[in-house]
Amino acid sequence: MIMSEEIFSVLLIVSAPFLGSYVSTVMIKTEQEQSILNPAFSTCSNCGHQILLIHKIPILSYIILKGACYRCKTPISWTYITLEAGFLISSISAMLALFNQTFDKIFFAIILAWTFLPLSIFDVQKQRLPDLATIPIACAALLQGYFLPYINFIDCLFGFILGFVLSATVSIAYSKIRGQTGLGWGDVKLIAAVGALIGWQFVPWFIFLASISALIHVILQIIIRGKQAGRERIPFGPFLCGSSWLVWLYSIF
Ligand SMILES: [Zn+2]
Repeated sequence: MIMSEEIFSVLLIVSAPFLGSYVSTVMIKTEQEQSILNPAFSTCSNCGHQILLIHKIPILSYIILKGACYRCKTPISWTYITLEAGFLISSISAMLALFNQTFDKIFFAIILAWTFLPLSIFDVQKQRLPDLATIPIACAALLQGYFLPYINFIDCLFGFILGFVLSATVSIAYSKIRGQTGLGWGDVKLIAAVGALIGWQFVPWFIFLASISALIHVILQIIIRGKQAGRERIPFGPFLCGSSWLVWLYSIF
């Protein structure tokens, strides 16, 4: 990395938790159908207490306030700490993992993580993956195949088709056999998008890793919470996002 890239890297790491905090606010305000420009931007949603500047420091404030409003002790949404810490940790991880790689790869890895983290949280909270996210990810993935030198566009295109055909087949077959939705169409679109991102050669690895991690999660839930946890519907998005990020990192070496 040349000097200006090193300065930019430091700026990325420093800004990561603040951006995570901002994205959290946008997600929460959008869910509450409030404008992100409205004056209540910096007040507690329960008691209306004006949030002090010192209580807005990402990660640190959450820890100091023990995850609750300073005045009324209403719990602060976990979206904040997850995205603030997630943005920071993923940025540092990308820089460490790709230390010897070109800066465009590091930057793309960080942007991917910053896209996948809010999408995972949205899926956990809403049990769906919106077209507004999956379709742009698919377009960006195909464009990177076309413009960036380290991946072949045809591999991306076949990755998109393979991801779509495999996941759509599983989704339709499960619905026919079990009479209920197992793999939603949001998941199918995300798998196709990730196929375009990593290329067809890595699609089986990606699906394997996502499935295994989801299975381990279910087994752990059954051990911790009992058998009924095994019958609950789990959002597949976080496992798809996490696995695709790891496989993408591995695929570009
Ligand atoms: Zn409050």
